[in-house]
Amino acid sequence: MTNEILDYNVLIMKVDLHNHSYYSDGVFSPSEVVGLANEAGCDLFSLTDHDTTAGVAEAQIEADKLGVKLLNGVEISAFWRNMTIHIVGLGIDLNNDKLQEGLAHNQQLREDRAEKIALGLWRSGIKDALEKTQKLSKTSMLTRTHFAQMLIKEGYCKDMKSVFRRYLTGKKPGGVRVEWKNIDKVVDWIHAAGGKAVIAHPFRYRMTQTKIKNMLIDFKEVLGDGIEVVTATSTDEEITLSNQWAKEYKLLSSCGSDYHGWPNQRIQIGCLRDLPNLDNAIWRYLPCRT
Ligand code: AMP
Ligand code: MN
Ligand code: MN
Ligand code: MN
Repeated sequence: MTNEILDYNVLIMKVDLHNHSYYSDGVFSPSEVVGLANEAGCDLFSLTDHDTTAGVAEAQIEADKLGVKLLNGVEISAFWRNMTIHIVGLGIDLNNDKLQEGLAHNQQLREDRAEKIALGLWRSGIKDALEKTQKLSKTSMLTRTHFAQMLIKEGYCKDMKSVFRRYLTGKKPGGVRVEWKNIDKVVDWIHAAGGKAVIAHPFRYRMTQTKIKNMLIDFKEVLGDGIEVVTATSTDEEITLSNQWAKEYKLLSSCGSDYHGWPNQRIQIGCLRDLPNLDNAIWRYLPCRT
């Protein structure tokens, strides 16, 4: 196994650097997700589960088998001005203590939140929410998506969108505020592990464009590295804008589908528009196992 900086050929590769398995809120196992990436013709791929790298070892075994290049990844929940945002870490050393201590901290916050969500739901008459939700998770990781699935299964709501709106946000019964670490800390964890820190899906935060730009300025200030310019749901306008911002704020460009494997989501692995400026592609600046 050698470490080499990917060469220019990578510019014609199919790349997807944001995906989930059932180690967080995805449907499939890490090896199934890598299998799908391979079928889709992905050359370079990253599994980026929420606040855990537990699925990466399995993904690596499958990637080695199929000849898919895998970048170690994670999607970390963070706070910017008291708002939750997601920072993708790419090319990380999985054995780095600082990163793993950070992830363990977030996992603890998730456990505490799960109990509070269950309590909130209990107060509104929904019994045994924690037990029922745990049954739906293949690992100890509980995301709000698991609670959403449980509420749909129990007939409280008919789809994801309404269940989040009616039960799992703001002042709703299962709406619980989590105080994640600020972006500077999260960027530090990723850098300690030798990785690059990327703002995930910049247009999904209910922020005005001015606010997104302020977030990017602060992210650069704390030495953040990149921004997702292309995600599966990006519009042409969003791609143009985020590409412009990458240039303006000197951030590298990443692309990832945010695939979860949910049947009602029409997102497919590796089905992404090209980055407008491939010279700025983040994978050109990341060492990759070959
Ligand atoms: P968590 O990190 O546990 O708070 O869960 C956040 C995850 O829930 C996100 O990564 C999405 O996958 C999912 N999610 C959040 N809001 C919605 C929504 N309105 N509809 C569907 N899924 C959502
Ligand atoms: Mn998710
Ligand atoms: Mn996200
Ligand atoms: Mn994601």
